[in-house]
Amino acid sequence: MRTTRPSVAVIGGGISGLVAAYRLRRSLGADAEITIVDHSRRLGGKLRTVDIGGGPIDVGAEAFIARRPEVPALLAELGLTDQIVYPAGRTPLIWSQDSLHRLPVGTLMGIPASADAVEDLVDDATLARIAAEPERRIDWTPGSDSSVAQLVSDRYGDQVVARSVDPLLGGVYSGLAENIGIRAALPTLAAALDAGARSLSEAVTAALPTPAPGPVFGALKDGYGVLLDALREAAAAHVVHAEAGVVRADGSRWFIDPVGAVDAIVLAVPAPNAAVLLADVAPQVARIAARIELASSAVVAMRLPGNVELPENSGILVATDADLTAKAFTLSSRKWTHLADRGEHLVRASFGRFGAADIVDRADDELIALARADLATVTGITASPAASFVQRWHGGLPQYAPGHVQKVAEIEQSVAALDGIEVAGSWLHGVGVPACVATGTTAATRIFERVAR
Ligand SMILES: Cc1cc2nc3c(=O)[nH]c(=O)nc-3n(C[C@H](O)[C@H](O)[C@H](O)COP(=O)(O)OP(=O)(O)OC[C@H]3O[C@@H](n4cnc5c(N)ncnc54)[C@H](O)[C@@H]3O)c2cc1C
Repeated sequence: MRTTRPSVAVIGGGISGLVAAYRLRRSLGADAEITIVDHSRRLGGKLRTVDIGGGPIDVGAEAFIARRPEVPALLAELGLTDQIVYPAGRTPLIWSQDSLHRLPVGTLMGIPASADAVEDLVDDATLARIAAEPERRIDWTPGSDSSVAQLVSDRYGDQVVARSVDPLLGGVYSGLAENIGIRAALPTLAAALDAGARSLSEAVTAALPTPAPGPVFGALKDGYGVLLDALREAAAAHVVHAEAGVVRADGSRWFIDPVGAVDAIVLAVPAPNAAVLLADVAPQVARIAARIELASSAVVAMRLPGNVELPENSGILVATDADLTAKAFTLSSRKWTHLADRGEHLVRASFGRFGAADIVDRADDELIALARADLATVTGITASPAASFVQRWHGGLPQYAPGHVQKVAEIEQSVAALDGIEVAGSWLHGVGVPACVATGTTAATRIFERVAR
């Protein structure tokens, strides 16, 4: 039976680490010594809510998949259910070939099951190729992986990749179809191919989710900051703003600077940072984690007069063969009624895809000017913003490259052998906030089992 107070260090105070700390407080009780270490001056990682006049807005993640249970359940536990809001139900557009197009419907991350879904976006030769695709038997080895671009471009052609798939992958991963693997990003498609689908059209048809009632996305009325504050308070952890040191074994315990000797450690930092911290106790894990690359991006939030004629759409995604610098616009005051109610327009322009990080480091003025110029090109709006805010996300999103699922399986298997060390975060089982919440919860559950015995 334990006689000393259990001690846990949570490295990384993004949503994954905060959830882990909160769950550990709930399971280990008021006596436990829980320390959160984060080298940034604020907690929250890629979640950040700011006020540029008119009320709070998110400049990192702004939504969550409402059909997954994790975020609504967490908000309910914290007494924040009344914060949940849903989108107005408008659809996004795609900017391609110098004009706006409707977003193809019935696709799997932009991959159509038939030509009619993309008839507005691609040329006749591509439409004919998609229509004929089922006649050419696909060569797929069950269990294998490839980049999304390799598969889609081979079966349907490059225009489908650039105009339908890349814009969606750019939104989720700040990635490109050529860097993202099918098995991690589109597991149902990989499963359909493994099960013997004879063509991509057949595999996409099998993999498409059954339509479900209710909104797909939710958000917090006052932004993610409300959740971060509630988690921080409920975790009642000691917070240290410092760079964590390399993890070392310390008898049956672990040692990490600046916390010292502890019973357990949760590493809720991006993969390359976890690689550095694990270099001593798990060099093989470190080698694999170091190979998971990150994409950087920048968000320019702009408050525009309420009388500008913003398209009646939730956003505009940009094809990668388009001559534009921005990769997407979220028309926030069209997308969310709680933001429309403020009487002004809010637009978020996003820049930066994997491999093109230089754009992110342009000066604020330059990024704002680019956001305004690109918005004028796609919507004709030239009004000056009443306020703007530039948020850079260096290493914002992990790239789920081909082979990612295998890498994560190997990492988790090796970490399981380190009694009292857990990993959590967006590089494991999905980049979205719900998946991060799930990894924080799992890490805390496993640590509780170790510390409480
Ligand atoms: C622009 C953008 C928009 C997004 N939009 C959405 C969206 O709408 N919906 C959605 O579900 N998801 C979205 N995401 C994804 C989601 O926000 C992130 O995947 C998630 O917030 C990551 O959380 P995390 O805790 O795993 O990692 P992070 O937020 O990266 O937190 C890791 C923390 O570790 C700290 N750290 C790193 N190394 C060390 C060290 N050595 N010592 C101490 N501290 C360290 C960092 O400072 C950071 O605070 C978006 C992401 C971005 C970048």
